[in-house]
Amino acid sequence: MQIPGLTQAHQDYLKAIYLLRSRGETASNSAIAQALGVSPASATNMVKRLSEAGLIAYSPYQGVDLTPDGLHIALKVVRRHRLVELLLHEILEMPWDSVHGEAERIEHAISDAVEEAIARKLGDPHFDPHGDPIPSRDGALEVRAAQRPLSDLVIGETAAVARVLTQDSERLRYFGSIGLYPGTKVTVIEQSPFDGPLLIEINGQQRILAHALAKSVGVTAGGGL
Ligand SMILES: [Zn+2]
Repeated sequence: MQIPGLTQAHQDYLKAIYLLRSRGETASNSAIAQALGVSPASATNMVKRLSEAGLIAYSPYQGVDLTPDGLHIALKVVRRHRLVELLLHEILEMPWDSVHGEAERIEHAISDAVEEAIARKLGDPHFDPHGDPIPSRDGALEVRAAQRPLSDLVIGETAAVARVLTQDSERLRYFGSIGLYPGTKVTVIEQSPFDGPLLIEINGQQRILAHALAKSVGVTAGGGL
């Protein structure tokens, strides 16, 4: 990125803070450390430096938040990440469970010109293979119809998968193996009590889905997208 002194680590921190905040979580130093797999001491250190650089603001009760400058950079990194995921999946035909790790590296290596070329090649997409919104050039996010977890559907209800809220390869591979991708319609046939498994119908086949997995799938009611 064309910002002097802004290393890959800086960008990763800003992105991690953005992702925590966009999930409605508090970006505390320990949450940031956990998200990035670093020690709490290094997270505290970096938070201090980013705050001195005017990219984040710290408040004792709400943890860390991005300043407009910090948000601008975070959205740019997220845009590159999700564009690269879609490029790898759609054009290079890599499975959706392996593109996240690759994009983590490639997102830091591409220029504005390459970012533009990828966006153009893909037709200025609004969503990545996991249903995550791709920020536009000016940082705007497409708002999709209200989503709720698949686990919240009532028996007999049909909805369309909009987004999967996991980057875990094994879970993604499993979802793929039963045909559960954004755009797929799912009907709940049975719900076991006390957060037990769900029986769902997907592509004309009945499948058992663990409650915890169903919770990480965002659907839009009525089967539309
Ligand atoms: Zn993604």
